[in-house]
Amino acid sequence: MLGAVETASRPASDRPASERPASDRPTGLARVPLRPAVEALPPYVPGARPDPGARVWKLSSNENPYGPLPSVVRAIADAAADTNRYPDMYASELVEALAQHVGVPADQVVVGNGSVAVLAHVLAAVVDAGDEVVFPWRSFEAYPIAVAVAGGVAVTVPLADDGRLDLPAMAAAVTPRTRALLVCTPNNPTGPAVRADELDALLAAVPPHVLVVVDEAYLEFVRDPQAADGVDVLRRHPNVALLRTLSKAYGLAGLRVGYAVAEPRLAAGIRAVSTPFGVSHVAQQAALASLRPQAQAELLDRVDALVAERARVVAALREQGWDLPESQANFVWFPLGEATMERAAQAREAGVLVRPFAGDGLRVSVGEVEANDAFLAIARGWRHAG
Ligand SMILES: *Cc1c(COP(=O)(O)O)cnc(C)c1O
Repeated sequence: MLGAVETASRPASDRPASERPASDRPTGLARVPLRPAVEALPPYVPGARPDPGARVWKLSSNENPYGPLPSVVRAIADAAADTNRYPDMYASELVEALAQHVGVPADQVVVGNGSVAVLAHVLAAVVDAGDEVVFPWRSFEAYPIAVAVAGGVAVTVPLADDGRLDLPAMAAAVTPRTRALLVCTPNNPTGPAVRADELDALLAAVPPHVLVVVDEAYLEFVRDPQAADGVDVLRRHPNVALLRTLSKAYGLAGLRVGYAVAEPRLAAGIRAVSTPFGVSHVAQQAALASLRPQAQAELLDRVDALVAERARVVAALREQGWDLPESQANFVWFPLGEATMERAAQAREAGVLVRPFAGDGLRVSVGEVEANDAFLAIARGWRHAG
């Protein structure tokens, strides 16, 4: 703290620019202009983080509540010893393991620093300035940012009332300037998954030169037998790219590993624009350890437990009288409209962090049993408050 006091007592002009008040900075001089698309970007609002030391449940970021498996922690620790070396640039061993996992040749897999980064690379590979990208709204909040940064024009299509994607409306939004559509299934933050017949109809309606990105971040949590199977669709439609991640079901959100699956020429284009060495050696080794058969079986058992928790939470909420969209992911959606921010603040005071989208609704992740119970008590209180 002494340092801070000393800094504060120095004349303002002696302090580094970052410590000077905004009014003290040379705003009158020419400033480097930002791209208009960047000036206009909505900020990415991450899920709330607990205050240090506070005892709260974090149900705000759709994270896996289970910590990494001991075998994965060991792989991370071993990999730490090689940190002076660059990672394998194309993560060849991991790409091979992912290709086997998905059931495609390795030249169809591209990894990146989380699937949000992979999405940016997919768009960088196909979108030119002014090209249109169609996506549902509300959906994953990274979409408008990624499209604008790529130089594209966002064309948003409202969700249906039950929180489902309106794929016929998305197909109808395609124009000669459309380069890509983003299909989020299950949709974050509302939860329903796209059905196979719906996705087939979309692909029949969209011209074959328009890319359809299918974001399957929550794939492992889907239990609806009618849900679309991305790999099957990709086999029949080379204008499809799948986005997958190890952040959710595999519990590696903190290490940032995502991937795209696409036909080889498109995959090569995505690889060409990817950040070099984008996936660290530690992350590569952790992902490889998570994909080993024994680890994978344990991780998918945990997913089953979370899916069972989802069923328990949804049944309890129904019994409380809530009518919510059908979730196929690890979260539930409360369309609370104008009450959203107040309810989020109340949940926080009661010890549960949830994710509000102002004026729209609340997303609540399925977490530990105790966390879910704490949230269910809060939701019951809201019913009684009317
Ligand atoms: C969480 C999430 C992702 C995954 O992001 P990572 O960058 O891989 O952590 C991708 N898409 C959607 C819709 C998500 O909700």
